Amino acid sequence: MYNILMLGAQGSGKGTQSERLSAKLGIPTISVGHLFRGEIDKNTGLGRTIVSYMDRGDRVPSDIVNQLMSGRLAEDDTMAGVILDGYPRTFDQKDELDKIFAEHGRQLTHVIYLKVPDETSLQRLSGRWVCSNTTCEENYHITFNPPKKDPNKCDKCGSPLIQRQDDTPDAIRHRLELYHKDTQPLIDHYRERGILYEVNGEQPIAKVEEDINAALGI
Ligand code: ADP
Ligand code: ZN
Repeated sequence: MYNILMLGAQGSGKGTQSERLSAKLGIPTISVGHLFRGEIDKNTGLGRTIVSYMDRGDRVPSDIVNQLMSGRLAEDDTMAGVILDGYPRTFDQKDELDKIFAEHGRQLTHVIYLKVPDETSLQRLSGRWVCSNTTCEENYHITFNPPKKDPNKCDKCGSPLIQRQDDTPDAIRHRLELYHKDTQPLIDHYRERGILYEVNGEQPIAKVEEDINAALGI
């Protein structure tokens, strides 16, 4: 069974690679951002709280994240394996994930660490366009991964593409700072646990995918 965590800075390619891996392994990707946007769309009280943090480029408090993840990881479709995209991001979230998994007799099997310099993150995120349909959310990049059919529409579902509120240079820089401060200890921890696989995320998308598959032995 594969319980995989995709770790890396914003724009390192986690979303892009998670989708490919998910199709290949036939297991769901759980993206925190996606869970958040689901709540925001439903305009729940929780959704409104979340949006106030996201718009500033701040991290949503861990208790909210843990609550959403715990609910999602109790659903049946996750029991045969999952790909986690963007969670855990901090040490206390890691402890919580270990607990949630332990309730089902599970644990993380692989951590894929997509390594890219900050400059690359900035360049990629400022060119990122996402499908506006929240059940799709396919990712594109104006130069590195443009839609093939219509330049302004999603190849998969035809919905218009939009830029995310928090993909502005200032918000990106702020997110990168937080990332370095809080996520580095996680990287060290998983390396010590012997489940960290470092992949050079600066390569073209297909090559990164190849390296991930090799690390997983698939
Ligand atoms: P993350 O989920 O880590 O924030 P994404 O998967 O959303 O990152 O990728 C950020 C942007 O960079 C997207 O526009 C995506 O199309 C593009 N991208 C992803 N991987 C690569 C790559 N290997 N080379 C060039 N661009 C990439
Ligand atoms: Zn779409």
